[in-house]
Amino acid sequence: MTSAVDRTSGYYDQRLETLSPEERAAYQNAELQRIVQHAYTNAPAIKKKLDKSNTKPGDIQTVKDLERLPITHKHELGELQQSEPPFGGFLGVPMDRLKRICMSPGPIYEPEEIHSQNDRWTQAFFAAGFRKGDIGQITFSYHLVPPAFWFEDALHRLECVATPGGVGNTELQVRMMHDLKVTGYIGTPSFLVAISKKAGEAGYDLQRDLSIEVGFVAGEMLPESLRSELEESFGMIVRQGYGTADVGCLSYECYHKEGMHFPYNCIVEIVDPDTGRQLGPGETGEVVATVFDEAYPMIRFGTGDLSYYTDEPCACGRTTHRLTKILGRLDQVTKVKGMFIHPSNADEVATKFPEIDRYQVVVTRKAHVDEMTFTVELKEGCEATEELAEQIEEAIPNSMRVRGSVEFLDRDTLPEEYKKIDDRRKWD
Ligand SMILES: [Zn+2]
Repeated sequence: MTSAVDRTSGYYDQRLETLSPEERAAYQNAELQRIVQHAYTNAPAIKKKLDKSNTKPGDIQTVKDLERLPITHKHELGELQQSEPPFGGFLGVPMDRLKRICMSPGPIYEPEEIHSQNDRWTQAFFAAGFRKGDIGQITFSYHLVPPAFWFEDALHRLECVATPGGVGNTELQVRMMHDLKVTGYIGTPSFLVAISKKAGEAGYDLQRDLSIEVGFVAGEMLPESLRSELEESFGMIVRQGYGTADVGCLSYECYHKEGMHFPYNCIVEIVDPDTGRQLGPGETGEVVATVFDEAYPMIRFGTGDLSYYTDEPCACGRTTHRLTKILGRLDQVTKVKGMFIHPSNADEVATKFPEIDRYQVVVTRKAHVDEMTFTVELKEGCEATEELAEQIEEAIPNSMRVRGSVEFLDRDTLPEEYKKIDDRRKWD
């Protein structure tokens, strides 16, 4: 199925998505001042947060000033909601201005305003390639949790039609896609795989009998190999986005898929979890979000996810910075030479070398300096050469941004169960 629709260029809001750095700073600072003032006046939890850190709303003038404030994590949000039900003091508007209240695991209640100005997922959908007139099938859950509703709102803002598939019922969903000539898929990558299998069983040819041209996926890792497999088999574009139930959309891919752009209307900081300080491009830290939603004004919400961002220009013309990718969870990281490393960084190194069977990253400390050793067991028949060690050593800083040495182990040296990163440093 080839389409006359241009899904690869353009903007949802050209002006705001292509601001210069100075214009963006001015826009974000003004929005930040407005939401901090609003939240301080209307949401008691935010007033407490500022009071505790001896900060007046007027002290928060720029994004940099956010460093004055502590980071609120999901578990704290849950505790606060339990002690002050239902919203823990985070509701920033009267109840009758809400259109929906969802419940995420915790439980945590998420209120949403009738006339919400939040179009962050809409930016994501446009960048993925959704256009006016698309029929988008939403295969996320319509029970309790917010994503399916957000994505429906995003489709409506783009003047698209939604078909609410929900979770499961794969056969019926395939039927619906076929009969209604659905052009867009919204769901997890793995459910799209399930759809392709079921469609095959039903005797459908994915490109001749279905009309899917564009997909927005979230909620799972999207390996490049899976992406290209899906794009080729359906003849579609697959792009991903990232967000959390508490704060909504925080980044999304454009056609050029070189990282995920920040929406123009929120603030995403990458923060050193130890100090709360903002980090620069390329430095790994926690993703911390401040959103401008009056109903649920999260100021410095810590996602617990690790990533880093780039400020390199993007071929799409959007000027917002981009998250490279989500590296993993904060509670699984180890800090080496001041950089956070995560098992997924090490996996990235290992997958580049088919010779590697199993590996373990060992972190030690000599004379107050961290050392990292990539210990490797090779596959049967592979030779431990100096050349291979050098190649791996070259690949390590690309994925882990810390240098390390390689040590080959005999096969079966590592126990059956072992940690991918073994921190052997002793601190006294
Ligand atoms: Zn781009």
